[in-house]
Amino acid sequence: MKAIGINTADRIATGLVEGHRLVGPLRVYEEPPEAEPLFTTPLAGIAERIAREVEAVAGGSKIDVLGIGFPGIIRNGFIEESPNLRQLKGANVREALSGALEKLGFKVPVQVYNDADAIAAGLAATRGYLDRLIRVWTIGFGIGFGIYPWHEGIWEGGHIVVSLDPRERYCGCGGRGHLEGIMGNRAMRLRFLDMEPDEIFDNAHKGDPRCVEFVKLWHSALAAATANSIHLAGPGKFFVTGFNAKHLDVNLLQQYMHEMVKMSPLQDYVFEVVPGGNEMAVIGAAVNALRAISPA
Ligand SMILES: [Zn+2]
Repeated sequence: MKAIGINTADRIATGLVEGHRLVGPLRVYEEPPEAEPLFTTPLAGIAERIAREVEAVAGGSKIDVLGIGFPGIIRNGFIEESPNLRQLKGANVREALSGALEKLGFKVPVQVYNDADAIAAGLAATRGYLDRLIRVWTIGFGIGFGIYPWHEGIWEGGHIVVSLDPRERYCGCGGRGHLEGIMGNRAMRLRFLDMEPDEIFDNAHKGDPRCVEFVKLWHSALAAATANSIHLAGPGKFFVTGFNAKHLDVNLLQQYMHEMVKMSPLQDYVFEVVPGGNEMAVIGAAVNALRAISPA
C-alpha cells in the first residue's frame, strides 16, 4: 500500500510513504517571492497547490490514500478552527482537496488530521510504538498536543488550563491560564517585551531572578498539563518536540511531575525529547490515513 503524506504547518511538505517509511526525498514547496503567502490564500488556491505537489510526488505511481495534517481543530475533513490559517475556519478541506485532485486525474480517499496527531503517528511508526498509546507535545510558536492511535476528539492540549492566576493571559486564543500562554514562543515574547525566548533561557542560566522564576513556571506548566493528561488517560510515553524543546530540562520537569502525580498506578510515564518536524508529520499523516482505510 502506498500513501502520500502532507503537512502544512508553515510550508507544504509532501512525501510518498510505503511501509511506514518515506520513499524518496521529502518535497517542500518553496513559495515564489511573488506568490500569495499560504496563510492568506483562499481554500481553492491552497487545494490546487497541494494537488500539484501530490502529482509531483506520486510520479505516476498508484496511490491508495492521502493523509494531510493541518494545525487546528480538525473533524470529519473540516477545519473547525485554525489559528494560523484563519481563512480556512469552517472549510471542508477533504472535499476541496478531493476536487482539486480529481481535476488532475487522481481519485483517492483524503484523510485530514491535526498536525500534532500526525507527528504522534510518525513517531509511533518510526520508533516502534504502533501498538500503544503515545502522546507528543510540540513546543514551537504555539503548543501542540498529539495523540496516537488517532481517535475522535478535540485534544487541544495546548489550551489546557494550568494556572488560575488572572494575569496569565498571553495565549493566542485569548483564554486565561492556558499552557500555550506560558510556553508558546509568541506568549513568551509578549511576556518579556525586552528579551527573545532564547535570551530568557540564557539569562536564567546566568541567574537573572525574573528569568529563573519564569523557567520554573515554564516547566511546571508542562508538568501540570502532562499530569492532567495522565489523570485522564493514564501514564505512558510522552515525546517532546518543536524548536523550543531544546530548552526543556527533563530532570526539572520530572521533579514537578513527582509533586503532581502521586497515585502509584499512574507513575509509569517517560519523557523523550526528539526531533520532529515535517518528516515525522508527513510519515504520520500517511500512516494514519493507511490505518483509516485498512484497520490492522
Ligand atoms: Zn489558549
